[in-house]
Amino acid sequence: MISGKNYIGNELIAQGSKTYNTINPNSNTSNKTIFYEATIEEVNTAAILASKAFEVYKNISDLEKANFLKTIANELEAIKDELIDIYIEESGLPNGRANGEFGRTTSQLRAFATMLKEGSWVEAIITKTENKPDIRRMQFAIGPVAIFGASNFPFAFSTAGGDTASALAAGCPVVVKSHPLHAGTGELVSSAIIKAVQKCNMPNGVFSNLNSSGIAVGESLVKHPLIKAVGFTGSIKAGTALCKLAANREEPIPVYAEMGSINPVVILPSALKSKGAFWATQYAGSITAGTGQFCTNPGLILGIKDDTLDEFIKHLKETISSIAPSCMLHPQIKSNYEENKATLLSQEGSHAILNAVNNVPENYVLPQIITVDGAIFLENKIYQKEVFGPFSIVVKCDDKEQLTQVLSKLEGQLTGTILNDDENELNTFKNAIEALKSRVGRLIFNGVPTGVEVCAAMTHGGPFPATSNSKFTSVGLTAVQRWVRPVSYQDWPNALLPEALKNENPLQIWRTVNGEITKNVL
Ligand code: NAP
Repeated sequence: MISGKNYIGNELIAQGSKTYNTINPNSNTSNKTIFYEATIEEVNTAAILASKAFEVYKNISDLEKANFLKTIANELEAIKDELIDIYIEESGLPNGRANGEFGRTTSQLRAFATMLKEGSWVEAIITKTENKPDIRRMQFAIGPVAIFGASNFPFAFSTAGGDTASALAAGCPVVVKSHPLHAGTGELVSSAIIKAVQKCNMPNGVFSNLNSSGIAVGESLVKHPLIKAVGFTGSIKAGTALCKLAANREEPIPVYAEMGSINPVVILPSALKSKGAFWATQYAGSITAGTGQFCTNPGLILGIKDDTLDEFIKHLKETISSIAPSCMLHPQIKSNYEENKATLLSQEGSHAILNAVNNVPENYVLPQIITVDGAIFLENKIYQKEVFGPFSIVVKCDDKEQLTQVLSKLEGQLTGTILNDDENELNTFKNAIEALKSRVGRLIFNGVPTGVEVCAAMTHGGPFPATSNSKFTSVGLTAVQRWVRPVSYQDWPNALLPEALKNENPLQIWRTVNGEITKNVL
């Protein structure tokens, strides 16, 4: 049962009078629950509780935190059917996607639990040489963090998503600014987290969930002196606004914002020649998956002008035109899509490959692909604007030099992909590949960028504006590094050192001792 209230620590509270509803984008009707926007006092109480909880939570062992994360996953599974129903009702996304994202969310929580049990994530480094100070360094939790739920991932990048899981793993209490498009899903997920808090005897305030349908709650959270870092997934406009807000605080704090990306794909001549039709089918699927509402959606495909590229475009047109219209997350997101698409369609040198069709259901959209010459793309930066939805641009380059030039002028991206069917060709295009590498966080070979594996080696990040800090990832186990800071102990008595740095290595973790990775005692 959803109440519409805010979780301020373990209590459901609604002191404010500003309310809102979520909508069902499929039926274009309002959902029943009335949500109470958090008041500034409630934001303050959540931050104070989080700060008090931090004093306890930061000292809780990795094993206990691991058990807490696993309990959250179990509690989510206990209400899975209810969660899937409300997810679909509020997002318009289909059942298969809801189940897939649910599984990703629980396995992500368990992956961080496994990381904590193993223990080396604290990155213990010991430098112990004769006649020099004994220096030992490890990572510690930074403090309470604010997490913004993302509109396009109600489970995996929201209330109990990767940002929350990694912050709780690090030892940081979390205050979630719930995304207004799926406030009901957010509250239900929060109820599972709060059950886990109580079952595992975690301190009250280790988790709070604040409703809001305007920017005031998010702003006051980011400005709150007790909040020490921010996690965000959404638009470039909102992400950069939050970065500025955080930088202008008396104590500036880091904002890890994952924002816009058009994810360039280079289809090399060998791939066009031998597998053009195959890649056209794969990309028709990748461009339209989730109605294109993925940060890794392939919004830019680049090739060298010739008959094989025209054949690829023809196959792409045929495959994509047989795909049925699908629902977007919200009327506002649909109108953003239509507006941004129209802007790019109206640019000089842009050619739409699909005919416009108007008779689609409310909140539903059709994909569109445009083609443009490399020289025109280079002249007009607006072609680099992310069109959030099932949209992509095919850039026809004159030659490999122009391809390299286009790639080196691209803004920062989450991913870059190379499609190739002849290893020798890779040497011929090495400058283009190097240019691509300099712009992205993940390089894909013969695949599609949609689908981000949650694993230790994943980088889901990239140069601005893909993210606000390209050193970090928001997916995968190293996402935990956003919420910690290093402390070095110099000549500290062994008995007073944290377990991870003691001579006896009681946690039996991998440590770097005088440049060597070892579990040895000192
Ligand atoms: P958004 O506008 O970036 O908003 C995300 C969250 O940030 C919302 O909770 C919003 O609060 C809050 N917010 C926005 N501006 C803020 C500000 N100046 N200060 C404080 N908080 C602020 O994203 P969205 O609502 O999810 O979708 C809008 C557009 O963002 C989409 O059409 C798409 O273009 C883009 N988007 C991109 C990605 C991606 O992965 N690249 C993902 C999602 C969305 P309120 O909603 O409560 O006002």
